[in-house]
Amino acid sequence: MAGAVGRGPPSAWCRAAAAGRPWAVSARDRVEWVPGREALARGAAHLRAGGEAGALRPVGAAARRAAAVHPADAVAQPADAVAQPADAVARPAVPAGVAVPPADEAVPPAGVAVPPAAAAGRRPGPLVRPAAAAGRPAAAAGRPVGAVVRPVGAVVSAAAAGCAWQSCRSVMAQDTTPPQIPAMLIDVHAHFYHDRTLRADWRERNASRLRAGERIGITTHVASILGSFGRTSPTYFPSPADLEYGNNALIGLEHTHPDRIRGYVTVNPNYAAHARVEIQRGLAAGMIGIKLAASRRASDPLLDPICELARERGVPVLHHVWQHRRRDWPGQEASDAVELCVLAARHPDVRFILAHIGGGGDWQHSLAALARVPNVAVDLSGSGVDGGMLESCLAAVGVERLVWGTDLTMDTGWAKLRYLERLLAPKELELVRWKNAARLFPHGVFPSD
Ligand SMILES: [Zn+2]
Repeated sequence: MAGAVGRGPPSAWCRAAAAGRPWAVSARDRVEWVPGREALARGAAHLRAGGEAGALRPVGAAARRAAAVHPADAVAQPADAVAQPADAVARPAVPAGVAVPPADEAVPPAGVAVPPAAAAGRRPGPLVRPAAAAGRPAAAAGRPVGAVVRPVGAVVSAAAAGCAWQSCRSVMAQDTTPPQIPAMLIDVHAHFYHDRTLRADWRERNASRLRAGERIGITTHVASILGSFGRTSPTYFPSPADLEYGNNALIGLEHTHPDRIRGYVTVNPNYAAHARVEIQRGLAAGMIGIKLAASRRASDPLLDPICELARERGVPVLHHVWQHRRRDWPGQEASDAVELCVLAARHPDVRFILAHIGGGGDWQHSLAALARVPNVAVDLSGSGVDGGMLESCLAAVGVERLVWGTDLTMDTGWAKLRYLERLLAPKELELVRWKNAARLFPHGVFPSD
């Protein structure tokens, strides 16, 4: 199975699922989408905005190749192992007797209305034995692909290095190496959903992020919710009511998972008075930073009162950035690093985070601007994994200004983390994994801080 299995927009998976047909990254490497329990119950057609409410399985030749690999070859690689061929990691192999949680298990945030269907608590998953799993044709897979739950902070086998997310899920499912000493890993750029976003599978997406975090070893997801993500007001111009609802949903998640989730207060600076009140309210409720999306150009003086409040409260400002904005897009007023640096230079005592250097556009343009402005950290998240990008980040701003994150694509976040493990000395890696982030946020908000 090609290493690219599972890549592509989630909506493509969902469209394929809704149409009841396999989704393939190529004619040779076909996979089928197996709906999770909740998706089956509600019907895949109800997944209106796409999603990962199930799992991908290899079909046909890809499945036979994957099954031919002995499980022992696919797990417990030494930490410095080179990336395995994707063929070696494509098939889940769960040890006999291990309970497998359902892949569609949802974790609704506290404070958000939960329909009765989701009210069931954790249910024990089915028992899967390797012989049965290996012998069953992929087409007969009627239940979700399971995975062994690893404790938060567990270090995942290196066998997955370089593979795409769905493949990674399989690798992590078969990773039976004993948990190692938890190491801090802070994701500074996460997102969650709620019941008023466009995603019908919002609970599954939230649960999926937490499960993925467990396997990657994320100790804290620092997240934001951009209003209704476009459902009842524009994603990048959220209304005050949507902002409050989204922030409340995130506060609910923080309370449900106090050891794993922390929040940015998302505000729209165009509603200047509301923004300041909402920031105070969010911080009082336990949020630890401010998120600004592309609602207003970063260099605009309208952002100054927000930055002043950030300085007073000692919290960082994560600013959505398009790496080298060459034009404007409808529905947003995107900024680039030059504009963010103008703002940062006006507020030298405020700590800024430039969002997702891998999020699209010309990151070299951003790095050139950032070199001169020390109070802007670079968040490494985004789906971009361009060759040389991480090395260039190191060269431009130094290891002490890099913070790790995922954004919406956790597979690429993980890939970059694995690459950093090869690129950096252990002490430097620790800085990027969490110590730099801990310095940006108020003291004591993270477990080992
Ligand atoms: Zn984001």
